[in-house]
Amino acid sequence: MPKKTKSALSLKKGVDNITSTDEKSVSEFRKVKKKFKSPEFYIQGIKKGNITILSQAITLIESSKEEHQTVAQEIISKCLPLSENSVRIGITGVPGVGKSTFIEAFGMRLISKGKKIAVLAIDPSSKRSKGSILGDKTRMERLSAEKNAFIRPSPSAGSLGGVARKTAETIILCEAAGFDTIFIETVGVGQSEIAVSSMTDFFMLLMLAGAGDELQGIKRGIMEMADLIVINKADGDNLKKATRAKAEYQNALHLFPPAESGWNPKVVTASAETGNGIPEIDDLLNDYFKFTKENNYFFEKRNKQAIYRMYETINEELKSKFYNNSEVKNNLKKLEKDVLSGKLSPYVAVQILLKQ
Ligand code: GDP
Repeated sequence: MPKKTKSALSLKKGVDNITSTDEKSVSEFRKVKKKFKSPEFYIQGIKKGNITILSQAITLIESSKEEHQTVAQEIISKCLPLSENSVRIGITGVPGVGKSTFIEAFGMRLISKGKKIAVLAIDPSSKRSKGSILGDKTRMERLSAEKNAFIRPSPSAGSLGGVARKTAETIILCEAAGFDTIFIETVGVGQSEIAVSSMTDFFMLLMLAGAGDELQGIKRGIMEMADLIVINKADGDNLKKATRAKAEYQNALHLFPPAESGWNPKVVTASAETGNGIPEIDDLLNDYFKFTKENNYFFEKRNKQAIYRMYETINEELKSKFYNNSEVKNNLKKLEKDVLSGKLSPYVAVQILLKQ
């Protein structure tokens, strides 16, 4: 790949389209870096589409410090009303299936149509520095050079619930900053797909044409969640196999109960590398959004997701408050021993801890 020529005049990515007011806010921001900043500072920055301030606000969301969370929650509340005109697309598939190549190809197409795209991830096993899913920006080289693309790695390792909440909140801020198409990527490991599906409008499964039984190893539940199955790498010698796999998956989908959306899940072949099939996928997505907006499913699903998130957050908060309680911390191990020695039943041990 040819190296990009660097000009002395080029600005760093992320601050290249700031206005003079933004420039002022950025320098103000740096000055008060160590001090407390008002939520209004971030909200205004985000509304102006300032990427630096958006990134700082996301860092607050990801922080476990209580004072950061307080500011973050106020920013999120103010940004919520600004996030209505977006679409959120979930993408999953095993490592190597071509997710980032696909997002890059699809994302570049959307950008050429005037869209602003954000790429986020849910990867509970992620350790930022180790360059796991989306940790390594060079995976989407062309996209990361675009000013209308914003790529953010998964919040670093934690409980799936915690990582999912942070990603869901990050979506809100990205949308308030003007990003109208949000991709949420995850690896095919089961639970994280459910989390992605709980915060996206459309769920896409990337697959490869296998040599043997096409349906082997595919988790039925995940296929059932998909609005679209893309058989990727349908190019070169692989094309025939991919076409055959498409027919097989189409048959398999017929066996599933109809989707709540009223939409018939589709199977297509594509090549993220050559771009074949990408325009058709773009059309399919537009059809889906038109269809589900007309039958109101789009809005009902978002409402349901908000309620789901509320209960998920209650569960997370209760769990973390419980385990962080000092009495609980002090007695947990002792009670564990009592349970092991048969002195207490697990139920009684829990009752003691809950009272504390
Ligand atoms: P991810 O782990 O799912 O994000 O997969 P990547 O996008 O990193 O792709 C894994 C490998 O497959 C890379 O070497 C890509 O160049 C290659 N690849 C991705 N999409 C295609 C495709 O459509 N055709 C072919 N032939 N190779 C592809």
